[in-house]
Amino acid sequence: MGTPWKTSVRNTKTLTVFNGITTGHWSNIFTIALAAFNEFAKPTGIKMVKAGNESSANIVMSLADGTAKFEFLNKHYENSFSGTALHGLTKTLSIDGEIQKAFVFLPERPTVTDFDNKGNMFEKLASPNVMKVIAVHELIHACGLDEMRDHGGDGIFYYPLAYQNGKVYVPERGKNPALMPSVRPDGIITGKIKELW
Ligand SMILES: [Zn+2]
Repeated sequence: MGTPWKTSVRNTKTLTVFNGITTGHWSNIFTIALAAFNEFAKPTGIKMVKAGNESSANIVMSLADGTAKFEFLNKHYENSFSGTALHGLTKTLSIDGEIQKAFVFLPERPTVTDFDNKGNMFEKLASPNVMKVIAVHELIHACGLDEMRDHGGDGIFYYPLAYQNGKVYVPERGKNPALMPSVRPDGIITGKIKELW
């Protein structure tokens, strides 16, 4: 279940994250996502802070459209990645079963469908709240829950999240889906994180 970070990182209870989102429409999302993650992760005692540079950062967060590229220990990696989808991609790189570095990619143009007042469907850029949900979900992967089977709970780390009429819903078992934004506490997921740290 998941993968622990290397011991030197676990000792600090802190992950440093480099902001690779330099310009454009999403320039604010880094700060918003880190604050939301830290609020969510409070019960675990771990936190994320902004890194000074990319090479020493534990996690690198950036936007991608078409291809997600990254380098680790002089090796180049590439993954195909939709720039319009409503989910991100996190790649963790481990040595001897411990994460050394993680790369988080967010869609550059996350696109939702909506309806005008005549009922015609149209596409538009997702709201900052939708992007926040995408980003926090990926940061949870990056803190160690890096496998598909780690998904769960009834909130931000549920998979797949539901998207309807331009809005994100978090399916909550046995209840009506909760309309985002709400990165609500989720003891199932913070419990899993705690075990890894
Ligand atoms: Zn996921």
